[in-house]
Order: sequence, then C-alpha cells, then structure tokens
Amino acid sequence: MPEHDLVVIGAGPGGYVAAIRAAQLGMNVACIEEANALGGTCLRIGCIPSKALLEASELYKMAQHHLSEYGVTVGDVKLDLPAMMKRKDTVVTGLTNGIAGLFRKNKITRYTGRGRIVAPGKVAVEGAQPVEITAKKIIIATGSRSAPLKGVEVDGTMIGTSTEALSFPEVPKHLVVIGAGVIGLELGCVWARLGAKVTVLEYLDRILPGMDTEIATEAQKILQKQGLEFRLGMRVTGARVKGAGCVVECDGQPPIECDRVLLAVGRLPNTDDIGLEKLNVARNQRGFITIDPHSFETSIPGIYAIGDCIPGPMLAHKAEEEGVACAEGIAGKYCHVNYDAIPGVVYTDPEIASVGKTEEQLKDSGIPYRKGLFPFIANGRAKAIGRTEGRVKILAHAETDRVLGVHIIGAHAGDLIAEAVAAIEFGASSEDIARTSHAHPTLAEAIKEAAYAVDGRTIHM
Ligand code: FAD
Ligand code: NAD
Repeated sequence: MPEHDLVVIGAGPGGYVAAIRAAQLGMNVACIEEANALGGTCLRIGCIPSKALLEASELYKMAQHHLSEYGVTVGDVKLDLPAMMKRKDTVVTGLTNGIAGLFRKNKITRYTGRGRIVAPGKVAVEGAQPVEITAKKIIIATGSRSAPLKGVEVDGTMIGTSTEALSFPEVPKHLVVIGAGVIGLELGCVWARLGAKVTVLEYLDRILPGMDTEIATEAQKILQKQGLEFRLGMRVTGARVKGAGCVVECDGQPPIECDRVLLAVGRLPNTDDIGLEKLNVARNQRGFITIDPHSFETSIPGIYAIGDCIPGPMLAHKAEEEGVACAEGIAGKYCHVNYDAIPGVVYTDPEIASVGKTEEQLKDSGIPYRKGLFPFIANGRAKAIGRTEGRVKILAHAETDRVLGVHIIGAHAGDLIAEAVAAIEFGASSEDIARTSHAHPTLAEAIKEAAYAVDGRTIHM
C-alpha cells in the first residue's frame, strides 16, 4: 500500500496549491484528481476559459463597434466562433499541463481517479487503476458544482450550466440567464457581445447580491446600455425544452421563449459520496464541511478541508490562500488567512472589484465611516484610453481613518484592486493612500483621488 505524509483529494486551486506548498516543506505528497486534467473547476471549466472568452468577445465587440472611435478603420469584421473556442481550449490545456509540470517538479505523486476516505489516514482511489493509499494527513479539496433549481430540467445542451455556456456551438439568438450573480453576468456578457439577445432573470430586486449596492446599481445601468436585459424580482419556477427551443417559467409572469438557458443560481460543495458520512465528518446544513478556522482541521483529527467545499466566498484565490495556510499549519508553521482582505472581481466590461466592507455592512453594524468617491471621467488616463465609465469608492473609519472597504467599477478594476487589498492587509489609512505617489497618467491615480475625497480634498474634481 503506497504511503504518503499527505494526500490531497482534488487538484483545483485549493488542492494543487496545498500539494505544492506541502512538497516545498519537505512532505511526501500525493494528489488524487478524478478529471484527466489538473487545475480543477478554475482552470478547466471556470475562471480561465471564461476569461479567455470574455477577452475574445470584447475584442470582437471593439473591432465591430468601437475601433472607429479611435481613428482605426477595419474592414468587414467577422466572428469565427470555432477559432475563438479553439484558442480558449489551447489556453486551458497550456495551463492544466503546466500544473502537471509543477507536480513533476515538486515530486508530487498523482493518482487519477475518485478519492474516497475509508478511514482516517486511508484513502481509496476508485477508477481505472484502483488502489488504497495511506497518509498521515488528508486534505479534502473537492470543490463545488453548479446548484440545480427545482423545475429547471438541465439537459446539458439547450438548458445548461456555466460548463455548457463556455462551449455553445453557435451564438444563441436569445439566451435566458437564470441568476444575476457573477457567472450570469460574465457569461451573459460574452454571448451578448457575440450577438445574442440576453435576458437575465433575477429573483432579488438587484443584481450582484453581496456587492456594494451603489456600485452594483451603476453596473446594472452600464450593462443595460450594452444590451443586457434585466428582469428583477423574477422567481424562476421551471425551464424545459419545447420543440426546437426552450421555455422558462416564472412566478406570476407569462412564460419566456428562448433558444438556450444558462442556469447560474450558485454552487454547491462536492462533499457527498467521498466517505464523510461514514466517518461522521461534520458539515453544515448546506453540505459545506465545517472546519477549525485556525487549522482547517475538520471534526476528525488529521482530516482537513479547504476551498469551495468549506464555507466562505467561492473564489480561486481564497482556495489558494487556504491551501498554503493549511499546508503550512500541517508542517507546524503559522496557519492564517485574512478573510477581510480577499478581493472579489467580476470580469464584465468595465470590471467590478471590491475588497473589505460594503457601505451597507458598515451601516448595518453601526461603524462610523467617511466615504471618498472619484469618477474615472476625471482621470487623465481613462480619458486617453477612452474608458471613462465608473468610479472608485473608498470607505474609511470616521475616527481612525483606517481603510475598511474599497469598491471600484471601471476599466482594469480587477488589477487596480490589488493596491486596496494591500492597504487593508497592512491596516493603512486613507491618508496613507492619499500620500502615496501614484504614477501619472494611470488609472490608479483615481484611487489616490478617492482617498483625497475621503477628506474632501480631491485635486482633479
Ligand atoms: P475546484 O476548482 O472545484 O477543484 C476541485 C477538484 O476536485 C476538481 O478538479 C474535481 O474534479 C476534483 N474532485 C472532486 N471530488 C473528487 C474526488 N472524490 N476524487 C478526486 N477528485 C475529486 N473564481 C475566481 O476567483 N475568479 C474567477 O474569475 C472565477 N471564475 C469562475 C467562472 C466559472 C464559470 C466558475 C464555475 C467558477 C469561477 N470561479 C472563479 C470560482 C473558482 O473556479 C472556484 O472558487 C475554485 O475553482 C475553487 O477551487 P477548489 O480547489 O476549492 O475547487
Ligand atoms: P451567485 O451566488 O453569484 O449568484 C446567483 C444568483 O442567482 C443570485 O443573484 C440569486 O439571487 C439568483 N437566484 C437564485 N435562485 C433564483 C431563482 N429561482 N430565480 C432567479 N434567480 C435566482 O452564483 P453564481 O453566479 O452561480 O456563481 C457561483 C460562484 O462562483 C460564486 O460564488 C462566485 O464566487 C464564483 N464565481 C466567481 C467568479 C469571479 O470571481 N469572477 C466568476 C464566476 C463564478
């Protein structure tokens, strides 16, 4: 029976990063992954393919409608969807093969098959080459899958999840998206840019629940202008294939006919059928594994869990932080993740990025704050590149001036937010940001100006 110091089940951003860090720390590590390619949801059917399509579809839209605004005239712009999909697949393969290379470099043993914990310290690999392996420690990093919705009959072609929407064989005439969350908006934008009519049905009276409301409201206005149709307060009760198309039913509303449906109402943890019931590993009501936040250890000693299968934001970089912290904790080092400094980015155009508390959270918890706003229309670089939509919003404690939350909607917001994350991580004040030199002309100057605005002293407004 093969013996390892550590066995990781799942090779997504949580699992593969934990495996690599543990190997760096001198452990004999194995990683079990049931998919043929390493990298998990993120690399195979999530972050990476969606961003490849977001970029490609944005270039198509630019070439079709906006290059002339920059004095660039192009001929007939045509969409080559198979080429776009091929490029996406090449990007994915390059990265997943890269993880296989990193495993080899770090001497991590890879088992292909389904991992099931049969006892503490013992994992069965089920599949073409079944084997039982022992390990001093086990990390569960099995990730998540799309949540189903009662009445919505996912058939994997006409009615599908994000996985299908990353590979539609042609541009739908009318795509109905169920859920105005991150997946619904990102993939809705891809297909709208490529020519589909996109209707987003959302149960709540707003889009992007959890995001700062002022920023989400602005996002909705901008995306509507780009052609997305939002129907809020719509509780979807069913969707089925009808003839050559689909029909979507909502409470108290006439049915909506379309030719494809994307179901994007959240994700559920992959924690069934991996041996947890038998061992009595504690899970919460929604199936997420409960852990000790100081060690990531589950209710069973020696078994740890990280990433999408434990509570918290379902984000690749959150899973990675947990992977590193968990491996370091197992090696006897300091084990800590600062959940106040985990950014969230929605890769629409413009991007929406945030870190820390929203204005609603501060109001609800009675924390006194001051707010600094700065619009990109007053930023020189934004003008020069023709990207003047959006704003930066900084929320700082009214007495200590400590930065509590930063929310950005605008071009490259996903990259700009890194400065705000560092500020929160280091406990910076808005005055610290205001007094930090920012290169000119850059979009980042909007962050400095928003910091000035906290104190009512913007220079360029
Ligand atoms: P996963 O990446 O889900 O990996 C788990 C792995 O475990 C999988 O490969 C699975 O096959 C394997 N597995 C499961 N059970 C077993 C078993 N019993 N035995 C063996 N292997 C098993 N996050 C971001 O931060 N940024 C983004 O831009 C972003 N975009 C996304 C776009 C889409 C369309 C989707 C669906 C998700 C996106 N996410 C994004 C979320 C991100 O993909 C997840 O948060 C991240 O992948 C979680 O990492 P993980 O390691 O916990 O799990
Ligand atoms: P989500 O939780 O972000 O959004 C789901 C939406 O569906 C919510 O707005 C919810 O109110 C709505 N909804 C639920 N039931 C409904 C119903 N019956 N009718 C109409 N609307 C309904 O979930 P998601 O968009 O599926 O994304 C899943 C996870 O994947 C997220 O947690 C996210 O963190 C992660 N993800 C992240 C990124 C990124 O970081 N850029 C990209 C994609 C996915």
